[in-house]
Amino acid sequence: MKIAYIASEISPYASTGGLAEVAGALPLTLTRLGHPVTRFMPCYRAALEGTRKLNSTDLKITVPVGMRSYTADIVRTDDGGTETYFIRRDEFFDRSQLYNLPDRDYEDNFERFVFFQKAVVALIDRLSLKPDLVMCNDWQTGLIPYFLEYGVQGKRRGRRERCVFTIHNIAYQGIYPDSDYALTNLPFNAYSVDTFEYYGKLNCMKAGITGADLVTTVSPGYAREVLTPEGGFGLDGLLRSVQDRFVGILNGIDTDVWNTATDPHLPAPYTAADVSGKSVCRRSLSAKMSVLAGETTAIVAMISRLVDMKGLDIVAEAMPELMKRDVVFVLLGSGQKAYEDMAREWATKWPGRVGVLIGYNAPLAHLIQAGADIMLIPSRSEPCGLTQFCSQRYGTIPVVHSVGGLADTIVDPSEGEQPTGFKFKEYSGAALVEAVDRALSMLRSPIRMTIIKHMMGLDVSWRRAAARYVEVFDRMLGLK
Ligand code: ADP
Repeated sequence: MKIAYIASEISPYASTGGLAEVAGALPLTLTRLGHPVTRFMPCYRAALEGTRKLNSTDLKITVPVGMRSYTADIVRTDDGGTETYFIRRDEFFDRSQLYNLPDRDYEDNFERFVFFQKAVVALIDRLSLKPDLVMCNDWQTGLIPYFLEYGVQGKRRGRRERCVFTIHNIAYQGIYPDSDYALTNLPFNAYSVDTFEYYGKLNCMKAGITGADLVTTVSPGYAREVLTPEGGFGLDGLLRSVQDRFVGILNGIDTDVWNTATDPHLPAPYTAADVSGKSVCRRSLSAKMSVLAGETTAIVAMISRLVDMKGLDIVAEAMPELMKRDVVFVLLGSGQKAYEDMAREWATKWPGRVGVLIGYNAPLAHLIQAGADIMLIPSRSEPCGLTQFCSQRYGTIPVVHSVGGLADTIVDPSEGEQPTGFKFKEYSGAALVEAVDRALSMLRSPIRMTIIKHMMGLDVSWRRAAARYVEVFDRMLGLK
């Protein structure tokens, strides 16, 4: 099948999180599996200034946005058989950030992404792409199914392709005043409580859900949680009504990048067959983060955006108790200032036992994954999560709050013969400490090596994830 894949961010061109990781990897894997994908994203400043060279083309696309018309220049790249088209209009996308300034969203976000989506639909036709399937991601692409149906240049188009809409995070829905509907140039009868309308406003994620043939999200656990009033952020009722075409499919990681045998960021490579290099990584990590880890000391680590959903509040609760154990704690992350300050205070309070680096640092993340014994992932909620996959592959025991994708991807010793981590159910510092204690006992027991080797052998690749997407497309969309 031929696929058009549309996302507001794609790694390595521009990224603020998980969506970019998925958009950066899944399409390449689908292409390799024999389903050629063409990608579309906005041409942000980050993409223009990035290390990958973007090639200009002669293509120009003009679409109306409300009473005005805007023209996009089309720029492209080719990543080993997967083409990416960038919609370039600098007044909309040549900005310091993708969606917001530090204190507020860009005021014209709806207009920017209406323009982006319309330009993509017009470009799909200009290129005579004729995809079988259009994959849309999060609210920035929620109107695509409607633009495919009603057209974007004044003429009804008629949707000829199937549409999949993927929810990466339901907390961000793209809700705007209904007066903004005029910017879409869609017919007035397309606006109703069955399509976009949401308590008198316009909800872009709702449009994606109502317009698509198939709705997916990034783990089976999250797919269940968003059906509940606590997890659905107001869309649980709608999602319950489309349950027969709603499915959770786990993400994967790039197992070439996350490969202990070839990782350039590790002082010593290692494999499941010979794990001895992991202790070299451990020593290098202790030195780098200025913590004193003796032979018996466990290195507990955390690599995370430092934001509310990532569970820093219960780590704070747990810290005094954790520090009574034979452990050191290393943390790499950045985000909300209050959490950054709190982490720095821990390093001051427990010198030599807590090492903190505030910032985003991919090479250090690799060294931490290799050198640590336990990875803490206490997220309050987590659609899928990627850290636990990297930890498993690097033989580092994940200790996770049992929610969303974390619940799906970790087998606690209480749940199966072959555990792949430890889980705690109650969201509290005490429950976290209890799970860390169980992990510490396991690390000191004879089964330690069996568990590490089993984790390192798990298939957490995009190949597995992409094969599952194809299976679901074939079954639910009849695309054989
Ligand atoms: P989210 O998308 O909510 O941030 P995910 O777990 O889905 O969370 O993906 C984030 C990825 O980025 C993980 O692999 C995580 O380990 C990594 N990461 C987070 N913070 C940092 C950091 N400061 N430096 C390097 N890698 C980080």
